Amino acid sequence: MRLSIAASDIYCLKSKIGCVEVLFSLIVPCFNEENGVAPFFEAVRSVFGGADFSYEVVFVNDGSADGTLRGLRKLAAEQPDIVRVISFSRNFGKEAALLAGLQQAKGDILCFMDADLQHPPDIALDMLGKLRAAPNLDCVCAVQEERSERRLTRLLKNSFYKIINKLSDVRFVSGASDFRVFRRPVANALLSVTEYYRFSKGLFSWVGFETEYYPYRAAPRRSGESKWSLIKLMRYALDGILSFTTVPLRAAVVAGLITSLLSIIYLLVVVVQKLFFSIDVPGYATIVTLILFFGGAQLFFIGIVGEYLARVFTQTKHRPAYIIRESINIQTEGEKS
Ligand code: UDP
Ligand code: MG
Repeated sequence: MRLSIAASDIYCLKSKIGCVEVLFSLIVPCFNEENGVAPFFEAVRSVFGGADFSYEVVFVNDGSADGTLRGLRKLAAEQPDIVRVISFSRNFGKEAALLAGLQQAKGDILCFMDADLQHPPDIALDMLGKLRAAPNLDCVCAVQEERSERRLTRLLKNSFYKIINKLSDVRFVSGASDFRVFRRPVANALLSVTEYYRFSKGLFSWVGFETEYYPYRAAPRRSGESKWSLIKLMRYALDGILSFTTVPLRAAVVAGLITSLLSIIYLLVVVVQKLFFSIDVPGYATIVTLILFFGGAQLFFIGIVGEYLARVFTQTKHRPAYIIRESINIQTEGEKS
């Protein structure tokens, strides 16, 4: 009799027992964090140091212009068994950095974490504990309870969640961050998504899996400053909407249909007035207003079509999401088991 056990069963068994083979990968994007990486690693070591599992920290230097890479090289030389470093040839953005980390991390359980200690390592440990205690759970996602940000930013963020949840079939949880602990199958599912414009929050919802939300309070940034200006955030929000719904394109069709219908009705009214009541329809102001209104509406909808088209154009070029200039303590393809 042959005994067949699926890899996922073995994986479940391993995590049920909570045995030592579990490797935990922390994926940490860094952009101009020269004063942040050493305290970050120190905090991680003090929290995970005595744990019953092994861990690795995959730092991704996203084209920093300061001494971040120098700091990472030093950490990698001091802790070659734990610290791995990927360094990009330029700044490709946080999403590209998360993807690169995901592609290189070897862990059975993985975690996305910011380098500025706003995502406290002890919360990551709690989330890991939750995941290991519940074999049916695939992902634990930290949700910011209280956001210490400007009122306008909060208002825009809340509006974004309202709009995208109305437009998209995928559910977006307000305040849910990239700060997540998830199992290997979730990582593999994320890696199977090959789109260029990556919007992690949405991708996690799109791939599905059993997810628990873990409320937490983000710590203040330890050093440096946030890389997200309002404009950058709005562009990111637009990327999210355009990646997860085609409703704006449909809105153009509906708006076109409604205005055509209204114009036919108005045409009939004008013809009847002229033929049966001999009323001349004066209307210079009306005509100018209508031309301007419809000119604007047409440009707006052409703009929406253009935004989608631009994304198709970029995707069809099949450019990689990032270019690696240097990697430290990373196995190359040939060395991988
Ligand atoms: N980050 C990155 N590339 C970028 C911008 C940010 O790798 O182009 C990293 C940054 O170093 C940090 C994380 O992404 O580790 C979150 O960035 P930040 O703290 O600026 O965002 P916030 O916490 O203000 O949302
Ligand atoms: Mg931050």
